Amino acid sequence: MDSGDLPDSGVNEELDEGSGPRCPRCAETLTRLEVVHRRNNWGGFAPRPRSERWWECRRCDWVGYEPRQGGALTAMRRLAGEEGTCFFCGEDEANVVSAPSDDSDGWRRDWLVCLVCGTSNPRRYRS
Ligand SMILES: [Zn+2]
Ligand SMILES: [Zn+2]
Repeated sequence: MDSGDLPDSGVNEELDEGSGPRCPRCAETLTRLEVVHRRNNWGGFAPRPRSERWWECRRCDWVGYEPRQGGALTAMRRLAGEEGTCFFCGEDEANVVSAPSDDSDGWRRDWLVCLVCGTSNPRRYRS
């Protein structure tokens, strides 16, 4: 277990270069992305980091996350144009999306996350 696992303070104290996992695509060391919940703050909470660890590759533009409990890196895909604009905070090219699940009922499901405001949203659409 990680003895440095203090409660998240929202401060990015973990951004040490060179200690990230390797890019699954090009083996470059990944760069930590701070993805923080910035919405739903009406209770007066400070912005808090999402529970996943997010990474990006500066070389090949790979982006993805690591579940908090550890485990495999999961690739996400950056969305461009209108789809990439966050519905919630309005930032351009803020959204990434998971690979869609392949459902037999004719619906596909994926998971959209805004890297700017930390909002995630499951989606369902006709394949
Ligand atoms: Zn890469
Ligand atoms: Zn957003």
